Amino acid sequence: MTLEDMIKSIQDKLNIVVDGRAGPQTWDAIYRKIVNPVIPAAPTQIDQVDAQSEKVIATLLPEVQNYARALVHRAGSNGILIRVISGMRSYAEQDALYARGRTVQPGPIVTNAPGGYSNHNFGIAFDIGVFEGDRYLGESPKYRAVGILGKELGLEWGGSWTEFVDQPHFQLRPAWAENLSGAEMLASLRDRAENQTPVYA
Ligand SMILES: [Zn+2]
Repeated sequence: MTLEDMIKSIQDKLNIVVDGRAGPQTWDAIYRKIVNPVIPAAPTQIDQVDAQSEKVIATLLPEVQNYARALVHRAGSNGILIRVISGMRSYAEQDALYARGRTVQPGPIVTNAPGGYSNHNFGIAFDIGVFEGDRYLGESPKYRAVGILGKELGLEWGGSWTEFVDQPHFQLRPAWAENLSGAEMLASLRDRAENQTPVYA
């Protein structure tokens, strides 16, 4: 058995993408399986943050809102100014984003997810921006630092993804989706939306 075959059979057992390469997703799944980390409890008693972030936070599911606030506070106490700049998007809004760089020209492609295929469509995901004063920084090593803080809170961080690295992105994975792939989780989220089953039930 080659090393690649070995990794493939481990990935198969872990119900994750089978590609024979042990990247961050594979290691994350191995870590969760073997170390079985305790998922931190949802933050409670969190003070509101800046008004601009609060507007976006209000679009998120109630279960997610305090995580977003906690992340803003934690970043702040580590000397990093962040704001929550994107939250819930309807399928129609997502379709409009998807059209950019495709049917709507000119401009670059900004997302690979059409309506119903982004975690933003279900109120469980948000994007942050790093700021210095009023200046928004699209790229900064600080995103990585915030990613680590988010993971400590129990959030999933888009910077750990392999296919589409998305450092500003955070999401709160529901417990029932613990062992699902990203695509499987989204399929279940679409079903739940259609059947009006709460995401975190
Ligand atoms: Zn995002």
